Amino acid sequence: MADLIVSRREWLLAAAAAGALGAEAQIAVAAASSAAVDPELTPEAALAELYAGNERFSTGNWNPRHRDMVRVLEVSEGQRPFAAFLGCADSRVPIEIVFDQGFGDLFVTRIAGNVATSENIASLEFGTLVLGAKVLYVLGHTACGAVNAAMQRQAVPGQISGLFHLIRPAIRSSGGDIDKAVLENVKLQAQSLADASPVIAELIATKRLVLAGGVYNLKTGKVTPVKLNEQ
Ligand SMILES: [Zn+2]
Repeated sequence: MADLIVSRREWLLAAAAAGALGAEAQIAVAAASSAAVDPELTPEAALAELYAGNERFSTGNWNPRHRDMVRVLEVSEGQRPFAAFLGCADSRVPIEIVFDQGFGDLFVTRIAGNVATSENIASLEFGTLVLGAKVLYVLGHTACGAVNAAMQRQAVPGQISGLFHLIRPAIRSSGGDIDKAVLENVKLQAQSLADASPVIAELIATKRLVLAGGVYNLKTGKVTPVKLNEQ
């Protein structure tokens, strides 16, 4: 699949150099050749690109690369996302936008309260072991409704409260502070991913994957890293 991407880009660049493309195609070449994320990059470099992307987004300098039909075609026959995510379902935290990434870059699972369940752990094992994501990132956010509801022990309809027990250990160590609870919940869910999945634990132990976490601020657009427990 990587060969396909490289060969397509190389073909476009060669065609552009030969003057064989029109203006519209030249723009597409510029987009393709600016693809910043090397699929062979290290876990540390992958994590650095996430934070660089958040800096671009939150300062209004986001990059349109990977969000056009050139990229859609590039990844149409396969994917090699460089990071996998466990994030909250909150509509205000769209992960590709927050980290200034596009099609094929991130393998994302989202669920209220960014809780680790067996279903999303299975997806994240696929994103890391099979697809090769180099970072597994747990993203919480300020004023998280799921964390707040679990904290308040609010009555909720249907099955929503079924997620609360996964958040409560973070509530207990928060001292009743919602910001602390969100932060503790990121640490807790990251720990759950490593504890519940031998596949993920092995990738981390062999340094093929870095586990990381952070909190997105709904007002500033910035992600603040959270120091996780040692794995
Ligand atoms: Zn939330």
